[in-house]
Amino acid sequence: MNIAIIAHDGKKAEMVQFLNEHQDILRQKSIHLISTGTTGEKAKKGGFAVEALLSGPLGGDAQIAAAVAEKRVDMVIFFRDPLAKHPHEPDIFMLMRLCDVYDVPLATNPSTAQMLFKGM
Ligand code: PGA
Repeated sequence: MNIAIIAHDGKKAEMVQFLNEHQDILRQKSIHLISTGTTGEKAKKGGFAVEALLSGPLGGDAQIAAAVAEKRVDMVIFFRDPLAKHPHEPDIFMLMRLCDVYDVPLATNPSTAQMLFKGM
């Protein structure tokens, strides 16, 4: 199962906490994590194996969106910061749109992500 993880700067601490709280699932060999660049670095520091792509503002969200369109992603955990402005807003919307186009589960906050994981 391929899970994409992305967190805006204001949400990175919550992402690390979420990963740690669900490490029993996330450290399984059958789980492959991909991420945007800086989120991936944080996850790696926490001891998780992650395929880190470009940083979000430099195209990382667009890369994950492309992977969704190519059916290489089964779930997206995207902790967005709704209180910050983002230069790559078009890429963010593209990613969310493609999750809906391809019916890929998308969690944009920890509570929803937790519900998705419970359903796994
Ligand atoms: P980052 O990108 O993980 O490289 O910070 C996330 C984003 O801003 O979309």
